[in-house]
Amino acid sequence: MQDDAIPGPEPEAQGHAPRREPNPRLMGPGRTVWVSSALALTDPGPAASGLVIQDERGQALLHRAQYLGQASRGEAAARALLGALYLCLDNQLLSPTLRIEDAELAAALRGDARPPDDAARLWDQIVEARARLGSHTVEAIRGTNPAHVVALAPLVEWLPERTRRAEGLAVQQRDDGSYEVRSARGEGQTYRVTLGTDRETPLACECADFQYRNIPCKHLLAAASSAGGAEQVFHHPTSPESLESGRAA
Ligand SMILES: [Zn+2]
Repeated sequence: MQDDAIPGPEPEAQGHAPRREPNPRLMGPGRTVWVSSALALTDPGPAASGLVIQDERGQALLHRAQYLGQASRGEAAARALLGALYLCLDNQLLSPTLRIEDAELAAALRGDARPPDDAARLWDQIVEARARLGSHTVEAIRGTNPAHVVALAPLVEWLPERTRRAEGLAVQQRDDGSYEVRSARGEGQTYRVTLGTDRETPLACECADFQYRNIPCKHLLAAASSAGGAEQVFHHPTSPESLESGRAA
């Protein structure tokens, strides 16, 4: 059984459950499956996958997040894709469109490149699952991926308390609504964080974790936490209402 080869902390939460009845809401043609994965703080590091299935009108039918344990970036992307393929198979999606965000993986799936090294271990299973799925499309995502916040959710649950305690970060709100986050020990760097009140000023931090890995770094989490709740911010990164209520503190 192909899911035996997917390591993960919670077997029942894994994408493939072959004996389960297909979900009638998901079955059928015209589905778009958005796939994402996220890492926390380091690569490899604590990783999670997320997916969103939409019907042909863009209506979300399913959100699913899974904590993957320690994984590298490429491995997390491959496992997220494999989980999505199994979900398509189990629910008998017809000619689905899978949208993935990892450019290297997308190139390998098109046959334009070799699979990334850290995805190689899963490559045979991905190829086999795609063959069983029959007609489908894989597209590389450019721009917003609705599955990304879904993938962040398990990491956000895990991160804020732990990183704040470990790093002793001090958070100060500035006049322009952004935050200054620095080590409570005084030495070391100060990072400026914006929590994203609208689409023009997204969630952002100046540090390398955020700039290069696009993950919820400890500074972002510390600022979000001080603003009233990391969950609110990360689940609704472009919703002004949720941020306003988060800032009320
Ligand atoms: Zn940061």
